[in-house]
Amino acid sequence: DKLKESKVFMRALFDYTPLEDKATPCQEAGLPFKRGDILQVVSQHDQTWWQAKRVGDCNLRAGLVPSKQFQESKSSSPSGLRRSFRLSRKDRRGSSGEANVSDQNDTEFLTYEEVTRYQQKPNERPRLVVLIGSLGARINELKQKVIAENPHRYAVAVPHTTRPKKSHEKEGVEYHFVTKQAFDADAQNNKFIEYGEYKENLYGTSIEAIRSVQAKNKMCLVDVQPEALKALRTAEFKPYVIFVKPRLPESRRRRSAATSPGGGEHGRITEEDLQEMRLSAQQIDQQYGHQVDRVLIKEDNASACAELRSILERLERETFWVPVSWVK
Ligand code: 5GP
Repeated sequence: DKLKESKVFMRALFDYTPLEDKATPCQEAGLPFKRGDILQVVSQHDQTWWQAKRVGDCNLRAGLVPSKQFQESKSSSPSGLRRSFRLSRKDRRGSSGEANVSDQNDTEFLTYEEVTRYQQKPNERPRLVVLIGSLGARINELKQKVIAENPHRYAVAVPHTTRPKKSHEKEGVEYHFVTKQAFDADAQNNKFIEYGEYKENLYGTSIEAIRSVQAKNKMCLVDVQPEALKALRTAEFKPYVIFVKPRLPESRRRRSAATSPGGGEHGRITEEDLQEMRLSAQQIDQQYGHQVDRVLIKEDNASACAELRSILERLERETFWVPVSWVK
């Protein structure tokens, strides 16, 4: 009884292992999946168990997966519930200020997100590209380099700052130079996607700054603290989120002391630094991984740039999965 192909697609926001699921009516009939997998939901007739296939899987048979409703009700399950913990963060592009973007939705249920295929049409504004990075990823550098190579196609959103303009700088080029009062007012009115303090001056990127890049039909690249993702994930921006993390050597205990960690890219790095970098990547992955479209492992600057460049090119040509709410 082959009915019409189902058009319902869900991005899984949690890992599912039927063999570990005590609730399943039949472990063998379960469909295992990982967070980020796209599932084609073949049947939603049962309230508790959907039938689904994994997109890209050669296996043609559908398996049982917990329904959204059921998964939400399993609130005791640690994978179903978003764990809330704060990132310990010392770093905003080397600054010591905390980014002031709050993430209030700490108890959001991570089950499924309905998605659809989307390809940017030639007359549509380019998607926003959002870079987030764990400690040591140096995403600002990466962003600047890729833009400098191709300034006609890519651009940064010009940030606001309260620091005085230097003589070589031009208003609206490096920054929008504003007073503390104006900055505070904008912050109050949620004009910024993120902002922070650095050496007693305020810096922030406004939503308008992104729009004005897109109005020129350029692809806007921003690098933000992951807390800002929530505000950016809108139909207007259709952000493509890239999580950059440095390739790190395994824990030193399992390696010879003579090897140079990070391939020399990071200079002298202690085992504690490495441990902190691993932790940072882990925390971002756990807390924000479900909002990430692509993980870029950064070996060194040159190869990471090349990879970023090729991702950006594909973004304009190929089809990607986006939340259905972004496409009408
Ligand atoms: P400078 O004053 O030397 O131009 O920038 C100093 C620092 O300000 C940068 O290294 C970075 O840490 C911070 N900064 C620049 N733009 C932004 C921004 O848009 N948001 C935040 N939070 N910090 C920024």
